[in-house]
Amino acid sequence: MAGLGRDWAVDWVRRSADVIGEHRIELITLDRDIGDGDHGENMDRGFQAVLGKLDGLADDATPGDVLKLVATTLISTVGGAAGPLYGTAYLKGAVAAGTASELDGAAVAAVLAAARDGIVSRGKAELEDKTMVDAWTPAVDAADAAAAAGAEPAAVLRAAAEAAAAGAVATEPLVARKGRASYLGERSAGHRDPGAQSTALLLDAAAAAAGA
Ligand code: ADP
Ligand code: MG
Ligand code: MG
Repeated sequence: MAGLGRDWAVDWVRRSADVIGEHRIELITLDRDIGDGDHGENMDRGFQAVLGKLDGLADDATPGDVLKLVATTLISTVGGAAGPLYGTAYLKGAVAAGTASELDGAAVAAVLAAARDGIVSRGKAELEDKTMVDAWTPAVDAADAAAAAGAEPAAVLRAAAEAAAAGAVATEPLVARKGRASYLGERSAGHRDPGAQSTALLLDAAAAAAGA
């Protein structure tokens, strides 16, 4: 069983910063359609700040330590709705990862579930409220199913990433019931939720870092 350790977690951060940077304009445009247009900017600032802190990680840092670094940095740099929501997600993920030096498939699925639960307890969004939860929840379900079937952690993450991407697309027809987009009411339909899209990008980066 190839467990995912510190190198995977650090590579996830690097790939997250890359992919958010590459999709910065796309996320800004999505948020301009149904929000205030800052999601790409906020996330890019946050992950660039995390990149700058990677050198300070201890040699024996665990995946949980890396997730905690992401959490504290996003909380202090991203702002808006997404900052505290993603911050909570990574913080709860870090708690679930614990002090393990490597994560197997079940542990990876538990990290994702804890992250999603953190977002839900903080933001109180339900499924189909047109938020990032609509990407996270199918991702958690797919990860749980893959882990229960004995999949390697890389395959668990790939299953999660694919489900998150489909979940993000599925936000398009929905009417927003949480966050800024909810101010638009029915006019929010016909646009993809920016936070669901960034979630899909981040989980794709996690799978890619695992080699899937
Ligand atoms: P802001 O709306 O404060 O400008 P961002 O633009 O960075 O913050 O993030 C917007 C995203 O945050 C939305 O696309 C949505 O996915 C997510 N979001 C907003 N409110 C909630 C909530 N209550 N629960 C879950 N996600 C939410
Ligand atoms: Mg915004
Ligand atoms: Mg804003």
